[in-house]
Amino acid sequence: HSEELKLLKDKTAITLDGTRITLSGNISEAGEMDSMFNHGAEGVGLLRTEMLFMDRNQFPDEDEQFEFYKTIALNAKGKPVIIRTIDIGGDKSLPYFNLPAELNPFLGYRAIRICLDRPDLFITQLKAILRASVYGGLKIMFPMISNLSEILEAKKILEEAKSSLTQQNVNFNADIEVGIMIEIPSAAITADILAREVSFFSIGTNDLCQYILAVDRMNEKISHLYDPFNPGVLRLISHVIEQSQKHNIHVGMCGEMAADPLATQLLMGMGLKEFSMSATSIPAVKKIILSNNMEKAGEICSKVMQMNSSAEIISYLEQNL
Ligand code: PEP
Ligand code: MG
Repeated sequence: HSEELKLLKDKTAITLDGTRITLSGNISEAGEMDSMFNHGAEGVGLLRTEMLFMDRNQFPDEDEQFEFYKTIALNAKGKPVIIRTIDIGGDKSLPYFNLPAELNPFLGYRAIRICLDRPDLFITQLKAILRASVYGGLKIMFPMISNLSEILEAKKILEEAKSSLTQQNVNFNADIEVGIMIEIPSAAITADILAREVSFFSIGTNDLCQYILAVDRMNEKISHLYDPFNPGVLRLISHVIEQSQKHNIHVGMCGEMAADPLATQLLMGMGLKEFSMSATSIPAVKKIILSNNMEKAGEICSKVMQMNSSAEIISYLEQNL
């Protein structure tokens, strides 16, 4: 098994008919990067920053955050790293940050909503990321965006972070790329509008599915309804990819669906070119890419998009694995 892993690791993820697909890693800390690269990742498609804020009794200050992002940037050795700004709230709480109890935490005060409400916390994280950006190919990604004005506000605070560093004579990459998670249905539906303001999208199917289907992703009682192959979910994902292509911005996927070999050809057929997942999932997805071609992926996709139910879709995809 480890021999096979080694062989796969150095193979470029390219289809039989020559289409290049990028496979990246989802990580939460620098310690995961060795394993990520050993499994064949070409960069970090999602750095979840919540871990840095957990297991402690106060917010990490700018220097501490800077050290963390700098280590990640250096370990990436020039490969791209997408850093997602903090995504607390929902199921993730912090012992030292008193979030009010809510009836619907997943619909509540979380992620970018907290950051825009507390620019003091947000700007600290942005300045730390900017300072680290001179050490590697860092990009910034905002989670839980639901509309255009949140992007504009977040970008305004990013500009403030930049001006503040300039005044302090601190170096940073002034052209750092900014992207957003597409994980709320309104953002997916208005992808054409949002695409004009960012340089990339990353489709977060974990939240996108729960919001499209109105199924709490943590509730086991209804887990059978949590279904990425529901035609409604597939239509919306396909729409986002299509709009990204039309508006010429990069689109990747960092939700669990990207790690599911059953979905690989279908997503390739929709035009997805970057899949980001936890390290151990990479080899299986890479194998599918290496042994198939885009023509077949396109056919699979057109067939699936005509189907009426996820049961039908799943059984068809299983036959075409
Ligand atoms: C997602 O929602 O798909 C995602 C990648 O983010 P998280 O699982 O951290 O909410
Ligand atoms: Mg999410």
